[in-house]
Amino acid sequence: AKADGRGRLCFFEPEMDAKMQARRRLEMDLRRALVAREFELFFQPIVEVRSRRVTGLEALLRWNHPERGLVPPDSFIPLTEEIGLILPLGEWVLEEACAQAARWAGDTTIAVNLSPVQFSSRGLVDTVERALRESGLDPRRLELEITETVMLRDTEATLSTLHRLKALGVRIAMDDFGTGYSSLSYLQRFPFDKVKIDRCFTRDLGQTQQSGAIIRAVAGMCQGLDMRTTAEGVETEEQFRALAQKGCIEAQGYLFSHPRPAVEIPAMLARLSQF
Ligand code: C2E
Ligand code: CA
Ligand code: CA
Ligand code: CA
Repeated sequence: AKADGRGRLCFFEPEMDAKMQARRRLEMDLRRALVAREFELFFQPIVEVRSRRVTGLEALLRWNHPERGLVPPDSFIPLTEEIGLILPLGEWVLEEACAQAARWAGDTTIAVNLSPVQFSSRGLVDTVERALRESGLDPRRLELEITETVMLRDTEATLSTLHRLKALGVRIAMDDFGTGYSSLSYLQRFPFDKVKIDRCFTRDLGQTQQSGAIIRAVAGMCQGLDMRTTAEGVETEEQFRALAQKGCIEAQGYLFSHPRPAVEIPAMLARLSQF
């Protein structure tokens, strides 16, 4: 009877329905998870190349699923964007990141990733302002990371939002630089404080000439534009040493630390200060 039941289900419902149902289940699971507080922020250090001093931490979202364990953001953020859940989730990320950073003394910045959906939402500037006010965090310590998708949209609206955010005193970073198709023109048009060079350029550093040449060129250009540069995905000493000769200001990657939970951050910062 059981096999029969399953057979009948397959017969009546087209194959697409299995996918739709999985999606629907994930959707309900995500809504439940937000209420159940299953999301957690991990933090990864960003290091100044010249001094090896930690200058910032990037907040990276994780889902502590009761059965699936730690779920990485790429596997659930797209759906939260589609169903609008990214708005309350993104708001929680901002509040939590600011609150954590305010607890860690010092001047390390806290970088928060903004979804394009969140960026074009009405309440973004108010949400950022509230997160700052409620945490008491110095606005200069908050850095918002945005990707090219944001800039592909309505340029006027994007510029206006960026200027309102900058008026709060926060900094803006362009994430994943070099992966899109008009990255260069964005540098001219938008007021970034920092450019994060995608890890595909870091990967071959110290091994091929080309990768180094691109990083050197981007770093030089950004310096001329008064923007800081961070190389993402630095995994080896060899890459780090090569980076030091390219004029890139900061480095981020597994060489220094994987993203780690908040409770481990004070010890991580202490360890890294002994380099
Ligand atoms: P991203 O903003 O480019 O973040 C960097 C990603 O590279 C992180 O993956 C990080 O764990 C990983 N990474 C860091 N160092 C290394 C390295 O040395 N080697 C390699 N191979 N990878 C490294 P993660 O945490 O899985 O996040 C993936 C993406 O999910 C992020 O890419 C970001 O686009 C998005 N994301 C993460 N947290 C949030 C969030 O709170 N809100 C939004 N909207 N998006 C988020
Ligand atoms: Ca990022
Ligand atoms: Ca990135
Ligand atoms: Ca990314």
